[in-house]
Amino acid sequence: MRTIAILGATGSIGTQAADVVMRHPDMFDATVLTAHGRSERLFDLARKLKPQVAGLVVEPESIPDDLKDIGWFFGEDCSEKALKAARPDDALASVVGIAGLPAVITALDCCERVLLANKEALVTGGNLVMNKARERGVKLIPVDSEHSAIFQCLEAANKNAPSRLILTCSGGSLRDWDIDKLDSAKVSDVVKGHPTWNMGAKITVDCATMMNKGLEVMEAKYLFDMPQEKIDVIMHPDSIVHSLVEFEDGAMLAQLGTPDMRVAIAYAMSYPKRVDTGAKRLDLADVSKLSFYDVDERRYPLFKLATEALKAGGSAPIALNAANEEAVGAFIRGRISFGGICGIVKEALERIPRMNADSIQAVYECDRVARIMTLEIINRKDLK
Ligand code: MG
Repeated sequence: MRTIAILGATGSIGTQAADVVMRHPDMFDATVLTAHGRSERLFDLARKLKPQVAGLVVEPESIPDDLKDIGWFFGEDCSEKALKAARPDDALASVVGIAGLPAVITALDCCERVLLANKEALVTGGNLVMNKARERGVKLIPVDSEHSAIFQCLEAANKNAPSRLILTCSGGSLRDWDIDKLDSAKVSDVVKGHPTWNMGAKITVDCATMMNKGLEVMEAKYLFDMPQEKIDVIMHPDSIVHSLVEFEDGAMLAQLGTPDMRVAIAYAMSYPKRVDTGAKRLDLADVSKLSFYDVDERRYPLFKLATEALKAGGSAPIALNAANEEAVGAFIRGRISFGGICGIVKEALERIPRMNADSIQAVYECDRVARIMTLEIINRKDLK
């Protein structure tokens, strides 16, 4: 039996992790649940999972009587406080954005294993996070489907080092659109097919621009200690091959399955064992064919920008991430067009000064400065 914290419990990854816990109550005890503001959803989960402690960034008006035995924490640092109070074996970090970084750092201090769904912690604080994990002997297990796939392939590689990592990419919700029409895509076009779009709106937009894949290349670089030039991205709209690893002899290993995040989440939770997830089995004859093709950079200019920022290193990825978070937020709120996201991130990257990013405090400062400058650019465009 392992105790686990689910940070970001009401989000897409968090609720699927809760599902895995409920399927295997003999294996997992969710002692910590935290969320941003969806208190009713968190209360429902708390009734089912009975955590010792729970946290909400936005304090609700009241806590239901039947949940008053739980230790509650509120405010921006509720996840850190909850982790320190309960010290679970594992922490699933599934808060979206750089907002998840402080909890990842605390989890590295308090837990034996960190199951990482928050890619921004590595994009913005990659060296700091990896060094801390190494120093404390904490195992970082990826939850992102591509990185989980690579992790699973490497586990099967009998310690042979990979010569190349290949991340697959679905292309997002606008992949079949006419390139000339992309600029005018609406929020509803981008998040179509996501009935609970509020939940994963940010990442859905990032998939449509392929910024998400840019962030994932960075994530892979740190997680697997691989130089950026040995990490490739290939389009694979079927989302059956979740990523691949190539070895010196030319052999490739791939991990396949139906696109169900519970497989990656459960593998991280139960590693090195595998457990039932309820995921639909892959019927290869039914799939029949798999397609792959190269990334069209004209369609995904933000992917190119991300690749360049990653190459530049230092504070550039922090600035990129902050500018993108602000620009995507402005798009979701209807302030800028879909095409405007790239223009704003590009201008922000040109204007934001290079800064020191050698400490967690320095990372937050870069992030803060980058957001202020990006908001200025957005506001100026708004006035026109
Ligand atoms: Mg992914």
